[in-house]
Amino acid sequence: MRTSNFLIATQKETPADAEVISHQLMLRAGLIRKLAAGLYTWLPLGLRVLRKVETVVREEMDASGAQEVSMPVVQPAELWQESGRWEQYGPELLRIQDRHQRDFCLGPTHEEVITDLVRDEIKSYKQLPVNFYQIQTKVRDEIRPRFGIMRSREFLMKDAYSFHVDQPSLEQTYAVMHQTYTNIFTRLGLDFRPVIADTGSIGGSASHEFHVLADSGEDDIAFSDGSDYAANVEMAEALAPGSARPPAAAELAEIPTPGVKTIDELAAKLSIDPSHSVKTLVVHGEEEGQLVALVLRGDHQLNEIKVEKLPGIASPLQMAEEDAVRAACGAGFGSLGPVQLPIDVIVDRSAAVLADFVCGANKEGFHYTGVNWDRDCPLPRVEDLREVVAGDPSPDGKGTLQIKRGIEVGHIFQLGTKYSDAMKAQVLDERGKSVTMAMGCYGIGVSRVVAAAIEQNHDDRGITWPEAMAPFQLAIVPLNMQKSEAVASCAEELYQKLRNAGVDTLLDDRNERPGVKFADMELIGIPHRIVIGDRALAEGNIEYKGRRDSDSQLVPRDRIIDFLL
Ligand code: ATP
Ligand code: MG
Ligand code: MG
Ligand code: MG
Repeated sequence: MRTSNFLIATQKETPADAEVISHQLMLRAGLIRKLAAGLYTWLPLGLRVLRKVETVVREEMDASGAQEVSMPVVQPAELWQESGRWEQYGPELLRIQDRHQRDFCLGPTHEEVITDLVRDEIKSYKQLPVNFYQIQTKVRDEIRPRFGIMRSREFLMKDAYSFHVDQPSLEQTYAVMHQTYTNIFTRLGLDFRPVIADTGSIGGSASHEFHVLADSGEDDIAFSDGSDYAANVEMAEALAPGSARPPAAAELAEIPTPGVKTIDELAAKLSIDPSHSVKTLVVHGEEEGQLVALVLRGDHQLNEIKVEKLPGIASPLQMAEEDAVRAACGAGFGSLGPVQLPIDVIVDRSAAVLADFVCGANKEGFHYTGVNWDRDCPLPRVEDLREVVAGDPSPDGKGTLQIKRGIEVGHIFQLGTKYSDAMKAQVLDERGKSVTMAMGCYGIGVSRVVAAAIEQNHDDRGITWPEAMAPFQLAIVPLNMQKSEAVASCAEELYQKLRNAGVDTLLDDRNERPGVKFADMELIGIPHRIVIGDRALAEGNIEYKGRRDSDSQLVPRDRIIDFLL
């Protein structure tokens, strides 16, 4: 590629609204441009990086035996109603209607679509196990899109879904995916850790997240210094000695609260002891006159109140939204009194503790424990709850915990039969009996990986890409090419030779000052650079510098190709 025919859209100034370094550098290096909140255009340079990540992911998924498919982004509401998630998923699900007023959503994930496909196509245990994947745009109406493409509303995900005749088969494929993810992130040159994760609102029995370690990460990870134990902090807290254990997803149930209209009635229905506090209350809305509430784990900390619209949920919940937000963000919870809310916020009257109140099963609301309490499962007392801090004993009994920040770039789940039960995805087993298929799902945030890699690979001059992700492997920077015939012909010759040898090469043939070209190539982060100038050329040399090297070196012209390859 020649820069004269390739958009180099670098910027000197650090954009004011970009908080993290990857977002700043992606804008400055000309990889992306913002269209609207959480929506970005990938410029040619950025797209090359994204495609390189995609290629590694595809090669490793293919090698694992998974089969690539491509499912629609637009999904019919009926499938989501069948799984129950049309109600449960909350406002992150972007819902649309077609011209006939039929409901659809833009896919944030594809469990329903793939389960629908597999229940039609797969009839016998002999066809199992199977693992289907796609690399495709996902849409999530994130409550707080931020950090550029790190948390955007449209992003590229690799999602895979495996189907099995039984749990042992699921566990085998899960182990293969765990290894595949390790291969992918290793090839991409990232410093990452698989950590034990909570199964969250998706449900299921086992889960790992893959985190890229970086201070700007949004998640806390607990590591043992005496073993390879690592867990996200929610999980480490749940397992910490002496901590109140949040119930497993399987132990949970929704709590119907018929006829409840006030906080006191709700508190009474949920058997909440006044000395308990509740961090998050998720209210689904009314179903046939019943308020369906999911109460999440207690916490003595008051976070913000989140009230969100859930399409399809009738008033009076919607009427309450503005008032609730005003009350929460205003003078504090003591001031709730005069606000008329049909359903109020649960108060710990003995202390200044209140609930995080969510209308609609906002997925963010599930974030902390990912669980809701069964009616019979006692809420933890404030004093039972433990924060995990550095220096705590590791839950595996080996060493003490350290806490680091991580960026979630991958997530694997054993879903069990959550979707296949709800959607009746069955096969005939060896004895000709119908059995419900077990299922796993496996995601990688392909676009987020790009930002995460920059968080780990940059210096004060710009990006220092790992080799596998760099938009170009090598930059040729000719000096004074427009005037020097010797420089121009040498640059052209090397450009052709390197391209023929399969090296992804960018020839900077712009009529710009050397300083401008060097700064651009360093900001863009191309791992290898050769400079062709009259003076060195007269002595038979070409200058080489690796992006991470402190000094350049001279290489004889007749040996430069061998040196580079
Ligand atoms: P997060 O906790 O960061 O919101 P998630 O747990 O909701 O992510 P998953 O449902 O596990 O995400 O999706 C699989 C992967 O997709 C995540 O591990 C992450 O890398 C990526 N991802 C999720 N949401 C976004 C987003 N808004 N922008 C970019 N990538 C995302
Ligand atoms: Mg999320
Ligand atoms: Mg997550
Ligand atoms: Mg996740």
